[in-house]
Amino acid sequence: MNSTLLILGDQLLDRHPGLSINDIERVLIVEVVISSYDRLYHRKRLALLMSAMRHYSKRLKDAGFEVDYRQAHRLDTGIQDHITEFSVDRLFVMDPDSYWVKDMLDTWSQTMDVEISVMSNTKMLRTREEFANSLSDLENARQENFYRRMRSLSGILMKGNNSPEGGKWNFDFSNRKPLPKNGLTITEPLKFEPDEITVQVLQEIDIHDHAFGSLEGFDLAVDSHQAELAVDDFVENRLSLFGRYEDAMTTSSDLVFHSGLSAYMNLGLIDPLTLCKTVEEAYVSGKVPIESAEGFIRQVIGWREYMHFKYSRLMPSLESVNSWNHVKPLPKFWWTGQTDMTCVKSVVDKVIKTGYSHHIERLMILTNFAFVAELDPREVNEWFNSVYIDAYDWVVTPNVMGMGLNADGGTIATKPYFSSANYINRMSDYCSSCRYDPKKRTGKEACPFNFLFWRKVEKERERLSHNFRSRMMVRQLDRMDESEQYEIFQNANAWLERIK
Ligand SMILES: Cc1cc2nc3c(=O)[nH]c(=O)nc-3n(C[C@H](O)[C@H](O)[C@H](O)COP(=O)(O)OP(=O)(O)OC[C@H]3O[C@@H](n4cnc5c(N)ncnc54)[C@H](O)[C@@H]3O)c2cc1C
Ligand code: SF4
Repeated sequence: MNSTLLILGDQLLDRHPGLSINDIERVLIVEVVISSYDRLYHRKRLALLMSAMRHYSKRLKDAGFEVDYRQAHRLDTGIQDHITEFSVDRLFVMDPDSYWVKDMLDTWSQTMDVEISVMSNTKMLRTREEFANSLSDLENARQENFYRRMRSLSGILMKGNNSPEGGKWNFDFSNRKPLPKNGLTITEPLKFEPDEITVQVLQEIDIHDHAFGSLEGFDLAVDSHQAELAVDDFVENRLSLFGRYEDAMTTSSDLVFHSGLSAYMNLGLIDPLTLCKTVEEAYVSGKVPIESAEGFIRQVIGWREYMHFKYSRLMPSLESVNSWNHVKPLPKFWWTGQTDMTCVKSVVDKVIKTGYSHHIERLMILTNFAFVAELDPREVNEWFNSVYIDAYDWVVTPNVMGMGLNADGGTIATKPYFSSANYINRMSDYCSSCRYDPKKRTGKEACPFNFLFWRKVEKERERLSHNFRSRMMVRQLDRMDESEQYEIFQNANAWLERIK
């Protein structure tokens, strides 16, 4: 048989399972040319993806593999052209994360004259054989139960089979501190000088108009060796305070104490299990406290794997859910950052510059705003898919439609994450330089997060009363006097009319 191993652009694993198959003739990697993208991707995302793919291809060639690195206008036509040119009759591929690529392969296996052999996805933990079988009874599990099982199965931060290290599964209560008012030294992440391959990629992207964000100062890791150095840098310099300040937001640091490793993990440059073991070791050797090690590991084997699982079960309908019937178009300032709300401006400006913002900025600033302003979930999802360097459909869609907007009606997270300015003021330094007053609910200085929040609580009082975690909001609203309530709604409606 004439066999090709197809390696997708987000499957750049050092230990890709296909590379140890004896009877493959060659490897195929398809780079979709930038001018063919309909979506407006962040320039740094495009640069990272293209440079990482080209570095990976070079490494395979250096290791003696025959590689067909092919540029094409679409992934499917690139694969089809390769099959025709090399008369391929068997195509090996690792199970894709994307529903749409999976769908394409399923269709091909019925319609094309080529045998398609799909290998299990070793990029994620839950799809590896030893995990997959032991998770089969968790179809409807909530994230916390899913996470506990992943801890038990991986043995990470466990004493024996069922006893969590530190006596508790979850140290979330220690992860909610704002940064101290008198400041804190935060070490900047390691930067990587672009080499010849990356410089070439940057030049190609630079002359291309149809993209978003800035390419300036591109300094990301582009291969697994550099990504490992980025892991070491995180563990050495930021992990110990990751737990305590996980939810803190500030204008003075892009990453705060976060890892900035998601984009590398999503490309396959970092193995999530190896990463979690490195973090566990840092805890065991006394370098970092339990709330940091557990908090980080929960994000990776808890949330990340859970989102991958939910995506695999809820697509394709997850893309079009809209359980709160929100229809307002995305305002222009989501693309430009031109708004007088300091929190939103800060986060969007950072995204334009870097293609990154940390979890709480995505959740408690952006999707919080989108929820209270009733923005159309499909437009919000499209925006998140476009502007982040770590954006891939399988991770964006459950986070936006499920966790962020609750547009799925609570299948992924039990309640919508939304708040007034109170939370933002407590957890960040945004409000001190804002033209709005986070303590005011009415009047010209009133913070939009306040009047939009209370308008939403009033509008959805029936639904929110059913959930014991959001019932408190309705009770608080009922304690406000009627004239204030009236003014809040007037303010909110007028403000919503104005934003375009
Ligand atoms: C609305 C919204 C959109 C998001 N879009 C993306 C996205 O496009 N790509 C992406 O990888 N993550 C996304 N996330 C999840 C999370 O915000 C990012 O993974 C994280 O901010 C990346 O920064 P970091 O590497 O510094 O993370 P850290 O705070 O250092 O966390 C460690 C790792 O945990 C994983 N992680 C943490 N939370 C989640 C989560 N909810 N879902 C999946 N993985 C998680 C990431 O791999 C991350 O690298 C989104 C979350 C929300 C609420
Ligand atoms: S006052 Fe309101 S709009 Fe301004 S930064 Fe604070 S929360 Fe954001």
